Amino acid sequence: MSDMNCPYCNAEQDVNHDDGEGYDESQKHEHECSECGKNFTFRTTITYRYEPAKADCLNDGNHQWYPSKTYPKHHTRMLCRTCDDFRDPTPEEKAEHGIPERPGKAGRTTASAAQPAQGAKL
Ligand SMILES: [Zn+2]
Ligand SMILES: [Zn+2]
Repeated sequence: MSDMNCPYCNAEQDVNHDDGEGYDESQKHEHECSECGKNFTFRTTITYRYEPAKADCLNDGNHQWYPSKTYPKHHTRMLCRTCDDFRDPTPEEKAEHGIPERPGKAGRTTASAAQPAQGAKL
């Protein structure tokens, strides 16, 4: 699919974004038709696509937990397929998925400065 059609000859034209050109929504951009050679302007409208999906766990349902593919394996977390929430695996899940205990667990929290996303969210 091409970006637009030339207003003079209707030829399909692709916007050249090589230098980050053509993205600014606040100004008109100039384009020379590769077909008829006429210059024209275009405005950019950036649209966003949204992909809605049911999230039962956000509606009093259950999270769809699955183990992350993390190495070393004792760092494995349980991720929710639906809402991207995560938490540490329970002892039962560790047994089920063969996740070993973390070494040097005593006294250390899982949150570290290097990984700010790892909150104590349960
Ligand atoms: Zn043209
Ligand atoms: Zn969830």
